[in-house]
Amino acid sequence: LRGVVALDGPSGTGKTTVARKLAERLDAGYLDTGAMYRAVTLAALRAGVDVGDPDAVIAVAESADLGVGTDPDQPVVVLDEEDVGEQIRGAEVTSAVSAVAAVPHVREMLVEVQRAIIDDVVDELGGIVVEGRDIGTVVAPDAALKVYLTASAEVRAGRRSAQDTASGRQADVEDVQAAVERRDSLDAGRAADPMRPAADAEELDTSDLELEQVIAALVELAAA
Ligand code: C5P
Repeated sequence: LRGVVALDGPSGTGKTTVARKLAERLDAGYLDTGAMYRAVTLAALRAGVDVGDPDAVIAVAESADLGVGTDPDQPVVVLDEEDVGEQIRGAEVTSAVSAVAAVPHVREMLVEVQRAIIDDVVDELGGIVVEGRDIGTVVAPDAALKVYLTASAEVRAGRRSAQDTASGRQADVEDVQAAVERRDSLDAGRAADPMRPAADAEELDTSDLELEQVIAALVELAAA
């Protein structure tokens, strides 16, 4: 692979697993941009900041020392020198992250960091798979391949709750579905910067596909 694979789509589509496996398959780097919004959210919660207060959130984002790894095998997320890979997946962060991600200046800051990481990894390895919501539209509009993953709301809630159970969190499918739908509508309804597929993205509905089928389809697209 030469360049960037932009992998966008809502939560529960299998994006993270797909992105990491695809990066391994392509000998490319990997960047989880959602983890960055989550880490800033964790920093805000730890600082006791109201995530509905944009100025306070910006101040936290500016002072947080954030690090993200790009190894698909071990994508670490570090906040102020602490590995927060687990904490950023908790329910508190998940329900507050859309508010943080809606602050335009936070997005500008993170997009700049993301572009710098992408450039470094492309220089070093030749390619990177980047997952998020706005990769094909904003972060890397010149990506070599843009894919927008979708899945039905039921399938996405089922995958999220299976993921939560696997990592030892309580997971009632109906609660998870409500939370997934709430987050989607917050993410999709963002006035300044609505989440949508890039005009030139390949849309792939993963509802009825096994993981390996999704990977195979993407490897083929990347080779084309
Ligand atoms: O992908 P993940 O569920 O970890 O993303 C967490 C949240 O971060 C999303 O719900 C969205 O609000 C935000 N996000 C974003 N732009 C990205 C990646 C994530 O706004 N590129």
